[in-house]
Amino acid sequence: MKISSLPLPQRKQAHEANKLAKRLRHAVGQAIADFNMIEDGDRVMVCLSGGKDSYTLLDVLLMLQAKAPVRFELVAVNLDQKHPGFPAHVLPDYLKSRGVEFHVLEQDTYSVVKRVVPEGKTMCGLCSRLRRGALYSFAEREGFTKIALGHHRDDIIETMFLNMFHGGKLKGMPPKLVSDDGRHVVIRPLAYVCEDDLAAYAEERAFPIIPCDLCGSQETLQRKQIKAMLDEWERRTPGRVENIFRALGDVRPAQLADRALFDFASLGAREGARADAHAWLAGEPAGAAAPDEG
Ligand code: SF4
Repeated sequence: MKISSLPLPQRKQAHEANKLAKRLRHAVGQAIADFNMIEDGDRVMVCLSGGKDSYTLLDVLLMLQAKAPVRFELVAVNLDQKHPGFPAHVLPDYLKSRGVEFHVLEQDTYSVVKRVVPEGKTMCGLCSRLRRGALYSFAEREGFTKIALGHHRDDIIETMFLNMFHGGKLKGMPPKLVSDDGRHVVIRPLAYVCEDDLAAYAEERAFPIIPCDLCGSQETLQRKQIKAMLDEWERRTPGRVENIFRALGDVRPAQLADRALFDFASLGAREGARADAHAWLAGEPAGAAAPDEG
């Protein structure tokens, strides 16, 4: 049925849904182009957890694939981690209905995590490592050239603050990376998409969401606090979170203080000056050079 023949309220709703779908396609397309995420001939493994983010990732990639001038394959892969009550039929049913090639891997990481992590501690660190291991091994066996994950803009920003507040490091979660062993190229095509848009799109498309709390674990308190901090900032100053994200793509090493990124030592140094002129300071015990206040 044409949108123009719908009653006004439905017309408005359909119009909003169209706008949202366009915005998502544009944001994902832009991220793919900016970071050269997908090339002609790629076999992309799309990791599907059953949550709103990965369903949307697959959906938007399928739309882009249909229009792209280059050819690439998309294969959905889910890891059934044997969480109690995991509805194993939901993803296969959905993927068959969409005509998408898929694999479901089975590995009981749940029991391992339960056995190893003390009661009351968060299980997510170990669980994610095990999941990553299983998915990456599969990708290698099957010859996938890219692994697509559903992390979005807000995940990236939260991770940056977590690293800053609790690790003393300025690092986030890159839109594209090569795994530590050099064997996998991981891409995050939702890097430019905010979580609210993903939630709205998932609702609009009525994806059969699988609850993410089947494992019984909770988000860490630290991540919750950072989410609350960002929500509060955004409420008081709309646009702040987007500005923070933009800052991640506009880094000025000369205005920071990382000596490995910028050669501050040579800055303004006089020719012929002794290179070891400060060696004596490095050896000074803390406080020894402070002026005498007596
Ligand atoms: S929430 Fe559960 S399934 Fe998700 S990473 Fe944490 S332990 Fe694993």
